Amino acid sequence: FLEFEGVRKRYGDHEVLAGIDLSIRRHQVVTLIGASGSGKSTLLRCVNALEGIDEGQIRLDGDVVSGPGVDFDRLRRRVGMVFQSFNLFPHMTVRENITLAPRKVLGLSRAEAEARADELLARVGLAERAGYHPDQLSGGQQQRAAIVRSLAMDPEVVLLDEITSALDPELVAEVLSIVRELARDGMTMMLATHEMGFAREVSDLVVFLEKGVILEQGPPAQVLDDPVEARTREFLRAVA
Ligand code: ATP
Ligand code: MG
Repeated sequence: FLEFEGVRKRYGDHEVLAGIDLSIRRHQVVTLIGASGSGKSTLLRCVNALEGIDEGQIRLDGDVVSGPGVDFDRLRRRVGMVFQSFNLFPHMTVRENITLAPRKVLGLSRAEAEARADELLARVGLAERAGYHPDQLSGGQQQRAAIVRSLAMDPEVVLLDEITSALDPELVAEVLSIVRELARDGMTMMLATHEMGFAREVSDLVVFLEKGVILEQGPPAQVLDDPVEARTREFLRAVA
């Protein structure tokens, strides 16, 4: 469903992605792990063309979504992304943040977009916060709102880059439970995290990246508990 074939990306002479081959099925939750600088964020950013690739191909549901001629607007409707830093618009209410793109890009009426936003906000326990501005919310609430904003576009895939890293520990759980719920609902997700417990709980497939290559991939029980590669073991020991 989401396929990477020989994907390479360099910044100057630094090859950040050095030939990535990866195949993600519909409804799968795939977690990228690996040391800082191993290329996790870059790989995610290539999926919705925030970064271009130098070689290879990325396909979504059979459509080539990398390289020249890609319709960025269409791609970003199909692929949602949530960042570590929430990135909500500070001067807008939560509801305005969420309805902006569905109204502008999907052409929904205000009423349609707001109905959808309110339904999604209720699902993540934020119904009462729709009229608040981001700075009136906790970090966990802001991150939940950011997740809702990406879901409001009804994407085919959601990319989640370290979405709990900026949160106080007691706020992490509420964001994780939403990701778990999305996984249960069958959303295809690709995420990067430093939290191995989370990776274990939510992933169908764990991918260990090192210096821009996939060293090892498999179900969480295999990669996290019984890795084949010495480097994976070393990494897991270091983060434990
Ligand atoms: P972290 O766990 O710290 O988030 P990561 O695995 O997400 O790390 P990336 O952000 O993908 O790593 O970065 C991979 C490498 O690419 C790093 O060495 C980084 O310095 C480099 N890099 C990333 N973005 C740029 C850029 N815009 N220009 C030059 N180098 C970059
Ligand atoms: Mg990163």
